[in-house]
Amino acid sequence: MSASPPPLPLLLLVEDEVPMRRFLRTFLSGSGYRIQEAGTGQQALTLAAQAPPDLVLLDLGLPDMDGQEVLRRLRQWLKAPIIILSVRDQDVQKITALDSGADDYLTKPFSSGELLARVRVALRRAKGGSGGDPPVFESGGLKVDQTARKVSANQVEVHLTPIEYKLLVALVQHCGQVVTHHFLLQEVWGPKRALSTQHLRVFMAGLRRKIEVDPAQPRLILTEQGVGYRLVSE
Ligand code: CA
Repeated sequence: MSASPPPLPLLLLVEDEVPMRRFLRTFLSGSGYRIQEAGTGQQALTLAAQAPPDLVLLDLGLPDMDGQEVLRRLRQWLKAPIIILSVRDQDVQKITALDSGADDYLTKPFSSGELLARVRVALRRAKGGSGGDPPVFESGGLKVDQTARKVSANQVEVHLTPIEYKLLVALVQHCGQVVTHHFLLQEVWGPKRALSTQHLRVFMAGLRRKIEVDPAQPRLILTEQGVGYRLVSE
């Protein structure tokens, strides 16, 4: 008798546009996920309570209630990652969602490859759970050893200022995910310092100069226009 394989991860898909939902369902179920579908916010809340999903894909524009409200209600009890599906030019919405506990967002139209990559990153992070991140992070030639407090780029050790190091560690702890300007400002300078996004940009430019091969064309720390930054995770 062999042990039965673990169940496929359960994704809750909250989207009112039928063609979009159909596409997502077909694609994701073909990629090794179980799918539950909701076309309204209320349905999403009910389904999530009945069968807690491993991940939620949440459209913000729903017919019966604001997607932000669905997010807030889910976050009150659900620990699973929530990825927001939003349309272009909704930076404020994205930021609000991320600061309310969403893990990531995808801007429509997105490619199926992009979607799959984000889902994988989010599920992997969720699985890593409370065990914490491995002390040594490696991606694209960047190596961050948090135990030894050492950073190297393409085998060359780089010397970061304490602020730059904090900034990098905050990104490492959320690698593959977008982190908002607001989050980074809080993480690095604390809630009492009222620094602006412009300050952050200055420090980020300094950090990029030290770790990127071409700071003008960053390959490690990507800019999420109007929202924040994303550290590439390999
Ligand atoms: Ca919609």
